[in-house]
Amino acid sequence: MRAQPTASHYVNGRYIDDDRGAEIAVIYPATGERIATLHAATPNIIELAIESAREAQVEWAHLKPVERGRILRRAADLLRERNEALARLETLNTGKAIQETLVADAPSAADCLEYFAGAIASFNGEHIDLGGSFAYTRREALGVCVGIGAWNYPIQIAGWKSAPALAMGNAMVFKPSENTPLSALALAEIYSEAGLPDGLFNVVQGYGETGAALVSHPGVAKVSVTGSVPTGKRVLAQAGTEMKHATMELGGKSPLIIFDDADLENAIGGAMLGNFYSTGQICSNSTRVFVQKDLHERFVTRLVERTKKIRIGDPLDPDTQMGPLVNKSQHEKVLSYIEIGKQEGATLACGGNAPSLQGFEGGFFVEPTVFTNVTDAMRIAREEIFGPVMSVLSFEDESEAIARANDTDYGLAAGVFTRDMARAHRVIGQLQAGTCWINTYNLTPVELPFGGSKQSGIGRENSLAALGHYSQLKSVYVETGDVDSPY
Ligand code: NDP
Repeated sequence: MRAQPTASHYVNGRYIDDDRGAEIAVIYPATGERIATLHAATPNIIELAIESAREAQVEWAHLKPVERGRILRRAADLLRERNEALARLETLNTGKAIQETLVADAPSAADCLEYFAGAIASFNGEHIDLGGSFAYTRREALGVCVGIGAWNYPIQIAGWKSAPALAMGNAMVFKPSENTPLSALALAEIYSEAGLPDGLFNVVQGYGETGAALVSHPGVAKVSVTGSVPTGKRVLAQAGTEMKHATMELGGKSPLIIFDDADLENAIGGAMLGNFYSTGQICSNSTRVFVQKDLHERFVTRLVERTKKIRIGDPLDPDTQMGPLVNKSQHEKVLSYIEIGKQEGATLACGGNAPSLQGFEGGFFVEPTVFTNVTDAMRIAREEIFGPVMSVLSFEDESEAIARANDTDYGLAAGVFTRDMARAHRVIGQLQAGTCWINTYNLTPVELPFGGSKQSGIGRENSLAALGHYSQLKSVYVETGDVDSPY
């Protein structure tokens, strides 16, 4: 099972390598076997990446927006044409079930490229009437932007960051997580094939220090990170020392409030999507499921029935619904939180084990797990686990649910299930979260801004809002009369 790329990095339109960089072992999480070996970028490669991006960006920013959009559109088509191969690569690299990577990874990146390809020509400044004289604003590119990705949605994250950056006339240097370095290289190849000039999308591999070197480089104007809150804080502090623009897409401990009038099967479906998709490794997951008292027992009975039917196994088998976690340390972390949950006195309603599957004994599998009788103070209800572990909590009334849902430093996402639409909007209006759902969960179409409040982040990805975050405004005052000078 090999997935060795041509070389570790993609810079200025070609693959390059330098085996003096620290080794990066790429592991298939379902078996633990090594599928590729890469090297972290040496300082020389980082310099090359930023220099080529700076050179290419100037001309790129002067193209008509429709011309930039045309190239992104071609790249979106190539992503779709190669979806099967890209899904397989993503499954090998992340362990996520192929039935997911076929529909949620490269297709999401393709949607994003297509959206910004079309949107950019209409994203303009404004004309401001000053009574005789006038002013206008220009939306201008920032320059070289750095994208830093997490490992749960590697190609999607690379697409979500690069598409609005490039559409707006910037160049991007992208550093994937060292756990999942492969698919960003495939995206770089696709951009080149679609006609993107060399240097505009560079991929450099590495660990945290490579990310830090990129963030602190004086040639970089903006940084966009998808990762944990501690990493986000470090990067934001670093970016702040040089007043760089920053977008932070960070972690969460999001609440899902299910009222007793909700459609039971839909609410359970939403809670399961919000905890078990991608083996629970989704930042916006609803890991705190608050269920109203009168519905609680029926909810848990049916939830456990449905959860026990989830098929765990070979991620490349199209019938498999849940693959392994991404790596050994994540596996250990999730299992340790399951132990913590038991010790804290929560009831393990189902799951909780690391199954040994025939032919996949070295894989990082964990059963989908449901804890009930969880209280707000428990660590499993407060800390981000990033695995398939759902905490079910019970509540009595609306104001109590809202207060408890908001009792967290995070603010990434939230959801409500109810048939009472007035209540749904009233509750959503009071939840402290950047992205909310009513009667569904975890859908993130490119048309909708995505991002967090409180410690879950700053800025937004997707939608026209993302173009705002990859541009700066220039205000231009135009005098049509004489200069009124007292001198
Ligand atoms: P990490 O925070 O560990 O890493 C994120 C990225 O930042 C990695 O590429 C990492 O490199 C890099 N990095 C680490 N230290 C630095 C530094 N000092 N300067 C610059 N870059 C650095 O997150 P994970 O990869 O473990 O991803 C899981 C986290 O991501 C979860 O908290 C999850 O909630 C969050 N996430 C948020 C999303 C959102 O959109 N809000 C979406 C997906 C995930 P390396 O891996 O080599 O350390």
